[in-house]
Amino acid sequence: MSKNFQNNLCPLCGKQRIVVKTYKEKIGNSVITYTEKICPDPVCQKKLDGQLAQEQKKRNLIIKAQKKREEERKKRLKDKKAGK
Ligand SMILES: [Zn+2]
Repeated sequence: MSKNFQNNLCPLCGKQRIVVKTYKEKIGNSVITYTEKICPDPVCQKKLDGQLAQEQKKRNLIIKAQKKREEERKKRLKDKKAGK
């Protein structure tokens, strides 16, 4: 219980966040419930949004790099096969 409460606190200012939206997503056989929470302080939330956007950007870059590596690996395998 206390853990859930902690999760509900803004990581920046420590205020209790407001739940704006909950949605469920089915992944495989399990349903995961996501809760979208915002900080009651708009200035603080703006900072958080900025951080999230930056994290998303970083994640996208990592995914892109992974995809590229995977494609290159496949290509090398294909070339190897073609060249015998
Ligand atoms: Zn906050």
